[in-house]
Amino acid sequence: MIPRMSATSDLLSRSLSAVWHPCTQMKRHESLPLVPIARGEGVWLYDLDGKRYLDTVSSWWVNLFGHCNPRINAAITDQLGKLEHVMLAGFTHEPVVQLSERLRELAPAGLGHCFFGSDGASATEIALKMSAHYWRNNSKPQKNQFLSLQNSYHGETLGALSVTDVALFRDAYGVLIKQNATVPSPDWRNAAGGESAEAFALRCADALETHLQQHHEHIAAFIVEPLIQGAAGMAMYHPAYLGTARKLCTQYGVHLIADEIAVGMGRTGTLFACEQANIRPDFLLLSKGITGGYLPLSVVMATDNIFQAFYADETARGFLHSHSYTGNPLACRAALATLDIFAQDDVLKANRAKAAFFNRIAQPLREHPAVRNFRNTGMVWALEVETPHADFAQRCFSLGLQHELLLRPMGNTVYFMPPYVIGEDELRLLVDRTLKVIDTLK
Ligand SMILES: *Cc1c(COP(=O)(O)O)cnc(C)c1O
Repeated sequence: MIPRMSATSDLLSRSLSAVWHPCTQMKRHESLPLVPIARGEGVWLYDLDGKRYLDTVSSWWVNLFGHCNPRINAAITDQLGKLEHVMLAGFTHEPVVQLSERLRELAPAGLGHCFFGSDGASATEIALKMSAHYWRNNSKPQKNQFLSLQNSYHGETLGALSVTDVALFRDAYGVLIKQNATVPSPDWRNAAGGESAEAFALRCADALETHLQQHHEHIAAFIVEPLIQGAAGMAMYHPAYLGTARKLCTQYGVHLIADEIAVGMGRTGTLFACEQANIRPDFLLLSKGITGGYLPLSVVMATDNIFQAFYADETARGFLHSHSYTGNPLACRAALATLDIFAQDDVLKANRAKAAFFNRIAQPLREHPAVRNFRNTGMVWALEVETPHADFAQRCFSLGLQHELLLRPMGNTVYFMPPYVIGEDELRLLVDRTLKVIDTLK
């Protein structure tokens, strides 16, 4: 009989030998063990020994309605018995059509056409290519530069990195990347003393205007993460920035790309973050939560005007991007089941109540002497911890696991982005245990 502990250590050593883990210095795992997960249920992940962890980050921001959700499971299982996949060039199927129609109904009016990819970075690539190709088809090939915010994150393929401003992800690959400009981020933590988040957002929008005035003839698109810059450390900003950005982009003939890969699907309190600024972007990007965190899928929604610029007799005027798994039926069914849950359970309303509850019970966190900038938008919370530990993120992760929490801080920023099915008892546990972790590391 092999004891259970050895099943765990066996899996860990095989993983370290055969699997190259993402965003990881593999050598670090000489001292920091991997966490072997056997199963998930709701907000909980269970390791091989049956120990549980509260998934406070929704497994890298993808999960919405818990692990092993019975309704999403049933939809995928049903689809498995019908059609697992078919190429989308020259063919079509009910799930991809339904999903496109439903997204068109739900999104800001005018985003009538869905192009499908399999991950967020590809959605960024597709939108950048479409934007530049649009201008080429409209006899303005010189509009081929892109603009993004400081500290922006839009994915890590080479094109996406060209509009990503996180040094860690970019520096090693700088020579491979097209150089695009950035403009100041409206992240309110950078506001002057006494300046409101809104006033600061508008001041940053002035900088955007100055840049567009000077460079619009060469800029195809401005890409933003609406309301929350996730990888920048959950930097939050006032929706007034988006309203002004929309006006300026229209005025200067520049596409506005809303990267809602992380913030779409209800994360910020509305189904799409853009709704809070009452704007319609030219491109809307979705991934992560679109399948409830089940399967890789991304969508680029484009306006009718953009679609029409490609509609012609010549092949080369058409949009040229082929991808094997485009519009995969299983992933589309998972997305349709996810949209069903939104509709059937009035999820956005339930989330408002949950967020209000959490903000009440999180008072001790907000007021903790080592905590700075406690902030919340929808179902995202973040705070900075004043700590003497340079390796705070790693310590916090390890200590969190001991307290049944999956915490994955960015630097000294601790954030919560839980699945929407989290209950009041679990939110209480989250506050209590996080306080213990911070008290140890402050
Ligand atoms: C995660 C993310 C991406 C990239 O998505 P991947 O599926 O990881 O490639 C792009 N933009 C934003 C805002 C994201 O949070």
